[in-house]
Amino acid sequence: MAAMLNAAKHREIEVASGSPATELMVNHGTVAGVKTAKTEFHAPIVVNCAGAWASAFGPGRTPTKPVKGQMLALIPSRRNLLRHVVRAPAVYLVPRSDGRIVAGSTLEDAGFDKRVNPDTIQHLHQKAAELLPELGQARILEAWAGLRPGTPDGLPILGRGEVEGYFLTTGHYRDGILMAPITAVVMTQLIRGEQPEFDLKGFAPERFR
Ligand SMILES: Cc1cc2nc3c(=O)[nH]c(=O)nc-3n(C[C@H](O)[C@H](O)[C@H](O)COP(=O)(O)OP(=O)(O)OC[C@H]3O[C@@H](n4cnc5c(N)ncnc54)[C@H](O)[C@@H]3O)c2cc1C
Repeated sequence: MAAMLNAAKHREIEVASGSPATELMVNHGTVAGVKTAKTEFHAPIVVNCAGAWASAFGPGRTPTKPVKGQMLALIPSRRNLLRHVVRAPAVYLVPRSDGRIVAGSTLEDAGFDKRVNPDTIQHLHQKAAELLPELGQARILEAWAGLRPGTPDGLPILGRGEVEGYFLTTGHYRDGILMAPITAVVMTQLIRGEQPEFDLKGFAPERFR
């Protein structure tokens, strides 16, 4: 994220934070920009990449639904306890280069609630210790929750919206970090009017209209 923000700054891209987009501005059937609570941004292209919140914005139906995930970071008693990802049905463990082991994650239908539940975190810790007993004594460094953008068919929503100049990029569910680079490539091609190098038909927003 730090690199991305620096790259944006270098290209004189303005990043506005702390004020959600509230309305798509449309002029004669074409996008004119977005309104936020504080101001208006005029632009010929608007991309709705609001993740689980994408459904709250823009014209047309965007059936994204938040799927809550809680996870925790543990400090094991010794470094290099794990050198690769371990997956089990109840938990997965990911070693980080700074020595932490991240254990995750829940799949919850909890609306837009991003609160961390201590019982759930304890349960995940216990499942992590069942998989790797040394983690039973490991200190919990932090715990957090996020909302994944789920869709009815489990596939992303990538393509043109219902108004000229309006695009949708959401619904990546459990793989949005992994798929960010290729999504950026194909969406840039689509927005520039080029043929995307991968067929996006299966991800078209129209499939839900
Ligand atoms: C616990 C957990 C573990 C995960 N692990 C992985 C993993 O290992 N690998 C992987 O690939 N993916 C993983 N994911 C999934 C990944 O985080 C998501 O798929 C990804 O974040 C979706 O990216 P996005 O940019 O579409 O949405 P988000 O990351 O949710 O970003 C959307 C942004 O839009 C902003 N926003 C919302 N409404 C508005 C508005 N009206 N105006 C302006 N801004 C708005 C939000 O504040 C947010 O910053 C995990 C998710 C969770 C919760």
